[in-house]
Amino acid sequence: MLWVRRNACEDIRAMADGRCWIFFSVDLQDVLQREVGQLSGGELQRFAIGVVCVQKANVYMFDEPSSYLDVKQRLNAARVIRSLISPETYIIVVEHDLSVLDYLSDYVCILYGMPSAYGVVTLPASVRDGINIFLDGNIRTENLRFREESLTFKIAEQTTEDAGGDITRNYSYPDMTKTLGDFKLDVKAGEFTDSEIVVMLGQNGTGKTTFIRLLAGLLKPDGEKSVPELNVSYKPQKISPKFPGTVRMLFIKKIKAAFLNPQFNTDVIKPLQIENIIDQQVTHLSGGELQRVAIVLALGQPADIYLIDEPSAYLDSEQRIIAAKVIKRFIVHFKRTAFIVEHDFIMATYLADRVVVYEGTPSVHATANSPQSLLSGMNKFLASLEITFRRDPTNFRPRINKMDSQLDQEQKLSGNYFFMDN
Ligand code: ADP
Ligand code: MG
Repeated sequence: MLWVRRNACEDIRAMADGRCWIFFSVDLQDVLQREVGQLSGGELQRFAIGVVCVQKANVYMFDEPSSYLDVKQRLNAARVIRSLISPETYIIVVEHDLSVLDYLSDYVCILYGMPSAYGVVTLPASVRDGINIFLDGNIRTENLRFREESLTFKIAEQTTEDAGGDITRNYSYPDMTKTLGDFKLDVKAGEFTDSEIVVMLGQNGTGKTTFIRLLAGLLKPDGEKSVPELNVSYKPQKISPKFPGTVRMLFIKKIKAAFLNPQFNTDVIKPLQIENIIDQQVTHLSGGELQRVAIVLALGQPADIYLIDEPSAYLDSEQRIIAAKVIKRFIVHFKRTAFIVEHDFIMATYLADRVVVYEGTPSVHATANSPQSLLSGMNKFLASLEITFRRDPTNFRPRINKMDSQLDQEQKLSGNYFFMDN
């Protein structure tokens, strides 16, 4: 966007011709006076979407609009982009978050092939069929399987908790508070056990990373409280590699036992397609390559608790599906616990046994609730976003209901934000 000059927002406001509401829809009112160069990743993304949407055009194109955004911002972006639809316009979007894609589009084309070698674009399919084909990894009309693994979602079974039963959980942490500058996070006490994945759901700036760092022992809670010492392995959200050597050297230095273990190779390293980058310099890796290396490093470390902050960032939908499968299989197989921060709804629902829901005002004061069942936690989280989900009958994947559709209204009335089918 080369034409964006110093006071870019003013220019665009003049140009926007009464369409300024778009900037409000993508929540930019607070940063309109800032220099473009100072914006954070998420702010810049919303700004870029706003800049494209206020222009008058027949064809609009968006390349990965959901990157850096949290769930709420992704939905707002999708709504703004859909608001451009008219008989004269045509919109093309490249998107890796399948729930956003589902909500956003009428038709989808799938691209498959061999990265860095060739790609094939399918004919457009309806959005429902297209995404189901993609999750299945099999294009029936072309008799072509492009992935061995397929992804289906468990039906929300009643957890023992909902049924009022009690499970003994092995670990616990107390009520805690953490103040960082002007931001305050309250954590409600919780318990967890092995073979369990707890997914953290909350807007950007509500302290998900802060809580993970408290659990990792990298931050101390305010006052006298302390987190019991846990044997953890931590994949940070921000990965800034300084290692002077190749991926292979890094693995031998940090996770030698796992790296030499055939089972770990089959279950983790091979599916994450590390083979092609194993002899590359770590400092030369791309975002997606680094993310995959970071996931291998985190899982390769012997620990009871795995803390994984935003594993799907920089990964494409294909890699997200694989990463989700790898992480889940690992945690269940080795009877470990994982706390995972995840904004991609398809990944979050696939991974989660239970969820921690964040409430409050981002960047100011937020509360991390105790872990609760997927169903009740999702209900709470979706109610705060004012969206409802239905389930696809083929693979049970969650699908966002269109705002004010009949199902949306019915589910809101009955309080079943996360499915109504059982
Ligand atoms: P999330 O991971 O949910 O996006 P974070 O835990 O990274 O949120 O941050 C929560 C809030 O705390 C943000 O408003 C952030 O700006 C603020 N924050 C994080 N680290 C610090 C720090 N070291 N000093 C001051 N504020 C901080
Ligand atoms: Mg974070």
